Amino acid sequence: GTPPEPAGTADGRLLVVSGPGGVGKGTVVAQLRAQRPDVAVSVSATTRAPRPHERDGVDYWFLDPDAFTELVEAGGFLEWAEFGGDRYGTPWSSVAAARADGGVVLLEIEVQGALQVRDRFEDAVLVFLCPPDDDALVARLRQRGTDPPERIAERMAIARWELAQAERFDIRITNDELAATVDELASILDVMGTGGRPT
Ligand code: 5GP
Repeated sequence: GTPPEPAGTADGRLLVVSGPGGVGKGTVVAQLRAQRPDVAVSVSATTRAPRPHERDGVDYWFLDPDAFTELVEAGGFLEWAEFGGDRYGTPWSSVAAARADGGVVLLEIEVQGALQVRDRFEDAVLVFLCPPDDDALVARLRQRGTDPPERIAERMAIARWELAQAERFDIRITNDELAATVDELASILDVMGTGGRPT
């Protein structure tokens, strides 16, 4: 499928949840959504193949590489980046759709994309999820599947670069206890929802 036509702007508040691959962003955001069913989350576009149970337009907009390039050239992305050999991006149209109620929109994206948001939207709030320690990150990257050691080493090198960007974010949360991390994000949403700036 393809995302709807680009529309709207990011003049409202963006809450970006980012961090190194393997830190558990997806789990944290899924848990936050379970706790806060009303939270507006942007549906990203990607060139990667859907995993079992993933649905087009729900988990991602699954685009073939040409369609993704067309959307890039049409200025259809608020940000996009290459990650793990595929491209991922936030379509403007997904932000507009998520912000139907005029409130905060959450983007769960990797670090390069988060830094683009940092540069372009001063009022965005950027959260960096930190692993409790490097060992925990290695363990999670290993758990990911049956990848050869050199792939794991490559992902660790990328993760080290990602970790080095942490200080460019507004808020850092160590993802030690899932429930505690989700609670912190929920209170950030509360502060943003009332027009404030969380610290
Ligand atoms: P996965 O393939 O595991 O779903 O996602 C891989 C990485 O891409 C994750 O770190 C995820 O946060 C990131 N990602 C998902 N959507 C976007 C997006 O729209 N933009 C960027 N920059 N990264 C994204």
